[in-house]
Amino acid sequence: MRSSNLTILKLGGSVITFKDKALTPNMPAIERLAKEISEAKPYRLIIVHGGGSFGHPIAAEYGIAGGFKEPIQMIGFSKTHNAMISLNTLIVKALLENGLPAFSLAPSSFIVTRGGRVYSFYRDALENAIKLGFIPVLYGDAVFDYDVGFTILSGDQIASRLAIEFNAERIIVGVDVDGLYTADPKMNRDAQLITEIDVDDLKNLVGRVGGSTYIDVTGGMMGKISELMAPVSMGVEALIINALKPNNVYRALKGEEVIGTRIVKGWGKRGFRQDSE
Ligand code: ADP
Repeated sequence: MRSSNLTILKLGGSVITFKDKALTPNMPAIERLAKEISEAKPYRLIIVHGGGSFGHPIAAEYGIAGGFKEPIQMIGFSKTHNAMISLNTLIVKALLENGLPAFSLAPSSFIVTRGGRVYSFYRDALENAIKLGFIPVLYGDAVFDYDVGFTILSGDQIASRLAIEFNAERIIVGVDVDGLYTADPKMNRDAQLITEIDVDDLKNLVGRVGGSTYIDVTGGMMGKISELMAPVSMGVEALIINALKPNNVYRALKGEEVIGTRIVKGWGKRGFRQDSE
């Protein structure tokens, strides 16, 4: 048990938006999650959400992640940020309506990256908010970057960095699949859910093609796994769950058993545990 009792809850863009429809929030999911979070009565919580169909299309159209190259991108940079503010407003509103002291903080206002990684981080506002019992609600954002002018800072990087910075007890990552599988479950019907894995084994097994057991991770899940390695190595527990399934987030926040992937440090076993075990 870590001293802070702080939980970081990351809600994926695939959960809170319809990814294939531009600028379309998944309101039933947002409202259900707000209710679940409220009913779980979290002690110390920071919520970070992704962009889904709000952030990604505009950022991609203007090539924001690749940095500043021409002035026209500045419009796209600001539009990306504004789209994220719109999505964030919906989430904060739902949380407030459920009686939670949610408070929106724009990562671009207190973080500047260098080469895409968090570099300067002004933590005072967040720290005071948590101390008073607020639930800060952050998001993947368009941020300024010392090397390339600006870039996209993912919610996954923010969640992991916050866990380290504030000595969190755990990170709960909510996505649209049940956890980490041996391969993308949307592409491979034989993919097996990994229910528990040691972070060192994860490092060795991801992408090890040709061995007897390896984990084939692509796209968004790859980003999550690589971001989670640092906090888990420092003792934070990570749990990847399906936040589209009712009560999973509630149960995870309460510390109850949930189907998903637990990534831990020092579990000590080689390999991983699958759902058949
Ligand atoms: P979000 O937008 O919610 O943050 P992403 O869509 O970026 O999440 O990433 C989650 C997706 O990663 C899953 O929906 C799944 O299709 C994909 N994925 C790729 N490889 C794996 C894997 N080995 N296990 C689980 N999911 C995977």
